[in-house]
Amino acid sequence: MGFIQVSRGTRDILPDEVIYWQHVEATARQLLHQAAYRELRTPIFEQTNLFERGIGEATDVVGKEMYTFKDRGDRSITLRPEGTAGAVRSFIENKLHAQGGVQRLWYIGPMFRYERPQAGRQRQFHQIGLECLGSTDARADAEVIAIASQLLNALGVSEWKLSLNSLGTTEDRQRYREALVNYLNDYKDDLDTDSQDRLKRNPLRILDSKDPQTQHIAQSAPSILNYLGPDSKKHFDQVQQLLTDLGIDYQLTPSLVRGLDYYTHTAFEFELDGLGSQATVCGGGRYDGLVSELGGPETPAVGWAIGMERLIMLLQNAEIALNQSLDFYCVARGPEAEAQALLICQNLRKNGFSVEMDLSGSAFGKQLKRANRSGAIACLILGDTEACDRTVQLKWLASGEQESIAQADLSDLTSQLQNKLNAAKANSST
Ligand code: ATP
Ligand code: MG
Repeated sequence: MGFIQVSRGTRDILPDEVIYWQHVEATARQLLHQAAYRELRTPIFEQTNLFERGIGEATDVVGKEMYTFKDRGDRSITLRPEGTAGAVRSFIENKLHAQGGVQRLWYIGPMFRYERPQAGRQRQFHQIGLECLGSTDARADAEVIAIASQLLNALGVSEWKLSLNSLGTTEDRQRYREALVNYLNDYKDDLDTDSQDRLKRNPLRILDSKDPQTQHIAQSAPSILNYLGPDSKKHFDQVQQLLTDLGIDYQLTPSLVRGLDYYTHTAFEFELDGLGSQATVCGGGRYDGLVSELGGPETPAVGWAIGMERLIMLLQNAEIALNQSLDFYCVARGPEAEAQALLICQNLRKNGFSVEMDLSGSAFGKQLKRANRSGAIACLILGDTEACDRTVQLKWLASGEQESIAQADLSDLTSQLQNKLNAAKANSST
């Protein structure tokens, strides 16, 4: 029978790579906790019209990228293509706004978009995202940007570029849209076909086109920053001042429009060096209109999402070494020794150590070779003699030193063992 492969645009994350995922997740979890963000878990599928309304029908995501299907009850269901719409639905449905003040939420998980798969672009991919709901203050914009930059820095990714723009209010954008369409109409025939199509539906997205000739035309287009009303301008000036105060470098990028319809005011993206054409690792901005658009009370909000695949690709390329640490590898041979070893391993785990037990029953030489390859700090050895004496040989793998310990003493030795492990670890890493 033929072999069934993984679906196009999806991939397995194997144990050697999972270490990187866990590292990113743990780092993010800690930073988000420090910034008083609380995790929210929403379903992976939602009713299709949540995304149609929340993201906008004229966007690429809704227009061409959604995994939408009818379930057995004839309801239209969509696998979430991003996290904000679901988070906002949950915020409204569970009346989180009734708790008053600002709600700081974050999420992590798989997202689904029907795209052409390539390095850093998949059909199932993963995001870490956060949403700060309930404040119009420019400090909220600065806070979320600062957290993203802090996360990148904490992961050792220091070569990033922050692009910053303001999309103003809906009214600002309407005025700008007219000016832009006016300008682009003169070059209509030179635009790529996608952009010609967008001229009526979603002209701002033309600024984002990857077509070289369209890009060239877009370079001389009017800048949205000249169309901001006084309040929008004031807010944007404040955001920039706060970023400067925080020592966060940014580049004003008037062509930065973002893919989703719901953005207002601040929009931003972080790009990483060394990712080729899929360089954007984090995108976000303010979306003051979305909560009310989805039927909730008027609630300003700002947030971002980080693409985990792209981030992890970079960490792996940078060969940042991560290992799943193992304290002990246990080898035993002979029925009595093997039975005792099982008990010893279990007791060590109860005392907080990580222990891998060799199950092969093969010759000591072979088992010890595996112990050396396992990455463990020390090896526990039990043969007939040890089984008879109720002892265990403890071999420090880096130095080769060996000592005999009474099995009965093992659990009393927890803190001593831990100190010795730490010392051996420190020795082998210098
Ligand atoms: P792009 O322009 O690369 O398609 P986007 O604007 O569609 O990105 P967002 O919706 O802002 O992306 O999502 C935030 C982040 O999620 C992106 O910056 C990227 O890192 C990641 N991302 C988006 N789509 C994919 C995908 N198909 N595969 C992997 N990562 C993705
Ligand atoms: Mg996209």
